[in-house]
Amino acid sequence: MSSSETHIVKEYIKIPKAFYATDTDKPFSNCISCDKYLLLPNNPYVIEKAIKQNLEYNTTDVIFEYAMCMDCYQNINETLSSTSKASIEQYFSGNVDLNQRRDTLLKNNLLSINDWTSNCIIKGTPISELTEYQIACQCDGEYLLFTNMPFIIGNIALDEMMQLLSNQTIGEIRGFYDKFFSPDPDIKKLFDEPKFILI
Ligand SMILES: [Zn+2]
Repeated sequence: MSSSETHIVKEYIKIPKAFYATDTDKPFSNCISCDKYLLLPNNPYVIEKAIKQNLEYNTTDVIFEYAMCMDCYQNINETLSSTSKASIEQYFSGNVDLNQRRDTLLKNNLLSINDWTSNCIIKGTPISELTEYQIACQCDGEYLLFTNMPFIIGNIALDEMMQLLSNQTIGEIRGFYDKFFSPDPDIKKLFDEPKFILI
């Protein structure tokens, strides 16, 4: 990379396959909301994927996935109720010390996403035991950044988080989902309500 390229943290790697777009098997190239091209330097964005896992057959289905530029992410975030956002923040801080987690992982020089996504960040459940989870990361151009992310959140924690949200926020999430995803009926059958961890 060129020396003019800087990131908000100094720990980063090329975006690993786990965060590629499923249909192309390549990194996400555009923001789901404004279609901005993402793979240029100094271009922060987030990726979120919801995965359903069949533990018996060891198979996974992607329920939804997207990349979203930070501008769109912040715009959506601003529309959500402050009560919901405060509740989620409290839920996180009551369960995990994100700074300490990051320090520990980096101190041990663990710059592989497996080290960051092997267990539910809230409950500690191993990924191999989760029937449903979401995985999220923060990126800049072609790189994944080790910030508070990447992490995974398992189904039990996801359900607890959803219960903390106001009806207004749940409505916003449903609206976002309906606008951007039209999963085939088979996939839609796999889950009851869309759950998002980043908004
Ligand atoms: Zn955007």
